[in-house]
Amino acid sequence: MISLSVNGAAGRMGRQLLAAISEHENASVGAAADAPGQACIGLDTSVLAGGDASGVSVADNVAALEAGSDVIIDFTAPAVSLALLDALQEEATAVVIGTTGFSGEQLARLQAHAATRAILFAPNYSVGVTVTLSLLQQAARALGDDYDVEIIEAHHRHKVDAPSGTALKMGEVVAEALGRDLASCAVYGREGITGVRNSQTIGFETIRAGDIIGDHTVLFAGNGERIEITHKATDRMTFARGAVRGAIWLHSQSAGLYDMTDVLGLKS
Ligand code: NAD
Repeated sequence: MISLSVNGAAGRMGRQLLAAISEHENASVGAAADAPGQACIGLDTSVLAGGDASGVSVADNVAALEAGSDVIIDFTAPAVSLALLDALQEEATAVVIGTTGFSGEQLARLQAHAATRAILFAPNYSVGVTVTLSLLQQAARALGDDYDVEIIEAHHRHKVDAPSGTALKMGEVVAEALGRDLASCAVYGREGITGVRNSQTIGFETIRAGDIIGDHTVLFAGNGERIEITHKATDRMTFARGAVRGAIWLHSQSAGLYDMTDVLGLKS
């Protein structure tokens, strides 16, 4: 039995992660934590995730989280995820990060931690999105520069970063397959007199509305035809179950930075 802990336990994803761990036959909830002062501190995790009492109460510090864990799963905010990595004492404690919205400087700090610790980091833990990334790589390689690429994503009104980490990852995969650098070819939204489209760009459009869990479409538009590759998440448990699967896989890995294509054996 692998002991998994959840940081950000009271969050939309934290609650789903607790439920996904509880339903897994080879995992148990080791510990849970959320921010100091939150109403959930001290409560049994079952109050957040439903089910029978776990006997694990929500802590407000990293030490308690680490004490109960083989692997910590963190879906919080960039500064919180980095503070967690900074505070961990044991190199053997592996960490699954689901947080999105890291700046370039924050990403470099996260990557530095992977020199001494096994870290799984993916902007989307759904198996379907991971397979979609492989399909996008294949499509972009075959279609080449004759097809314009646009990435359209939609999420719920509470999401704080845009475009989504998943949309950016899709852009990276397509840009790499086309021999482009996403940082220099990305166009984020359009307004006013934009001029004609530069065929070397990759466009991003963001929708924020209602309770949409996560929709992504990558459009390859050529002359006389277009291809749309779409993934729609309808339940956050798809991310939570993927993260738990990843955490169990990560437990037996050595220090390094991994993503879901490693977990699913899809690395090309
Ligand atoms: P949320 O706001 O509902 O939850 C965040 C939780 O973190 C809250 O309970 C908050 O109190 C807690 N938190 C804040 N400061 C903390 C601290 N210092 N210590 C411990 N906990 C702290 O957000 P959410 O919708 O659950 O999303 C969280 C993150 O996960 C976002 O970045 C989101 O984009 C990302 N996300 C990733 C995936 C994926 O598959 N990788 C899927 C969904 C969401």
